[in-house]
Amino acid sequence: MDEVADGAAGALLRDLFRFHLEIDQSGRVTSTGAALKKIAPGLEGAALSDIATSDTMLVPIRQDPSLEWCDVLMRLRFLSKDVGVRGAFVPSPFDGHLLFLGSLDPEDCDRLDELGLQSTDFSPTDLTLDFSMLRWARDAQVRETKGALARLEASIARGRHLEELVAVDALTELPNRVAFSSRLEDLLAERPIGLTVVMVDVNRFKLINDRFGHSVGDEALRTVADHLRMSVGSSGVAARLGGDEFAIVLFESADVDKIVRSISALGERVLTIDGNRMTIALTLGVAPRTDEVSGSVLLGHADIAMYEARSAQVAVAWFDPDDRAQLDLRRSVADALPSALRDAEISLAFQPIVDLTDSRMHGFEVLSRWNHPTMGAISPELFIDVAERTRQIQELDEYVVARSMGSAFDLVLDGELPRLNVNLSAMSLTPRMVDYLAGLIADYDFPATKLTIEVTETASVADLTHTAQILHAMHEMGISVALDDFGTGFASLTYLQALPVDVVKIDRSFVADMVGSEKSLQLVRSVVQVAQALELTVTAEGIETVEQQMLLRSLGVDRAQGYLFARPVDLAGARTMLGRVLPLGTPRPPAPASGRASATSC
Ligand code: C2E
Ligand code: CA
Ligand code: CA
Repeated sequence: MDEVADGAAGALLRDLFRFHLEIDQSGRVTSTGAALKKIAPGLEGAALSDIATSDTMLVPIRQDPSLEWCDVLMRLRFLSKDVGVRGAFVPSPFDGHLLFLGSLDPEDCDRLDELGLQSTDFSPTDLTLDFSMLRWARDAQVRETKGALARLEASIARGRHLEELVAVDALTELPNRVAFSSRLEDLLAERPIGLTVVMVDVNRFKLINDRFGHSVGDEALRTVADHLRMSVGSSGVAARLGGDEFAIVLFESADVDKIVRSISALGERVLTIDGNRMTIALTLGVAPRTDEVSGSVLLGHADIAMYEARSAQVAVAWFDPDDRAQLDLRRSVADALPSALRDAEISLAFQPIVDLTDSRMHGFEVLSRWNHPTMGAISPELFIDVAERTRQIQELDEYVVARSMGSAFDLVLDGELPRLNVNLSAMSLTPRMVDYLAGLIADYDFPATKLTIEVTETASVADLTHTAQILHAMHEMGISVALDDFGTGFASLTYLQALPVDVVKIDRSFVADMVGSEKSLQLVRSVVQVAQALELTVTAEGIETVEQQMLLRSLGVDRAQGYLFARPVDLAGARTMLGRVLPLGTPRPPAPASGRASATSC
């Protein structure tokens, strides 16, 4: 079974299996890339409406009016083969044609053999072509898309309304994630407490798919959907969030216990789907709304409960708001944060970023550290998350940038200030932050070109148009933008297309898996390829071994960061590394009594 197609690596793996086709304004295919030529010879001249299957067709998953392009999910049928693809329509740079830049649906990445394809059919030609197109689309004034899309929609959606398609999951006809989230928020606004959210996951769905094929898999999902609809009745709303993940919101009058029992009972029946006998067991996470939390927090609670259920191997778990230890800790952290910022209790750690061509220090990433007088060292993951949820993150981020710039003057080498990378939470990407940075740069007389802000890919999803505006403003000031944890989010390419990015930082999970896993290696390779096509710099994170360093270097990665070179260290430690070739070699004896500061990791 192909684990890589799931989760973090999935998004990148998909990016490997890219192809394009070009259609004219009447929806007729005018040309295709190599991969499509192979699966569907003679496709040119066909109408897209003839090859798109009637069940999924054109389902915009996100439209961005200001950018005027549209991500779509569609299912195509080539000859007798059903292939799921997702991608974006952009106008072709050459003429009035529309270009579909797609990639295989993750679930189809496992079916290359069956489709008679090899991964080499997809790249590099198509990949490079795709990315030069994307770059064009990103830079150009894109005007024609909307009209062309509307015509296309009319020709293939056969009268169905776009809004309806947006709101309804085509396979199960349940509300989709977008519709569910907005419905949930509406309900929560009406009723402060009393609602319950249930997350439902199909156990080992992938196995059903692998063993019986996709049409049986689809039928299994429809069976689950029907069962949820029936169990919930008029006591709530069931939705399909995506894949094999469903969610339900139950009204306050609902008999939650009974409904939960009824849903779980599905697993006790032997079902026959297309002549195949099987059981479909579900795992449920139940979260009643006891506090005035938002819809997304409530969904998060249900998700935590579901995760608990799965790890305990039980069918149902309830979110436990009395998990006091964790909640109390978070509350104490939230309460202690304002004074920690006021009293400068939060300190900075500096981790060198090394140029892989000559192993010289390129600059530092600044990371925050908090050693609380009574609670001890609090991990950044915890306090950053708490700061985000309690809306203190912007203060924290401002504090870190300001102190970083202040510290930079202690890190001058040969009259040169160091390059600094600071992390900004997506929540800190506000006009206020733009002004704040401009003020700091002026006050400190710090060259903006020495500053890079790191924004995580997953974090910037909320409002892409807004994020793009803020980042553009910073970019115009001369600040560089790095996309952090690249590959772990869902829409890596979408971000590259829409945001002014200079650097991509390959997440350390890929680096860790790279040696010994051909697939992870390919993933890293494809990121480098994409970055080169878009003229971006690639930094790899989490390098711990010389082997990883060599490999990354041979793949064309520009810079690297990781314990191999140096752990994050305090300011004194950072001073000792200035201008050095890293790693410094075998561990050196403790600093001599004459007292040059040695690097203290923190
Ligand atoms: P990040 O931006 O991905 O930072 C890199 C993290 O990887 C750091 O963890 C660093 O200590 C760790 N790391 C570096 N090299 C290696 C390695 O070779 N192996 C391994 N296993 N880990 C390595 P840290 O300091 O715990 O930070 C965690 C995250 O917290 C950061 O991830 C960043 O997203 C966030 N963060 C830290 N400081 C700030 C801040 O001031 N503002 C914001 N908004 N976020 C911050
Ligand atoms: Ca970072
Ligand atoms: Ca990172």
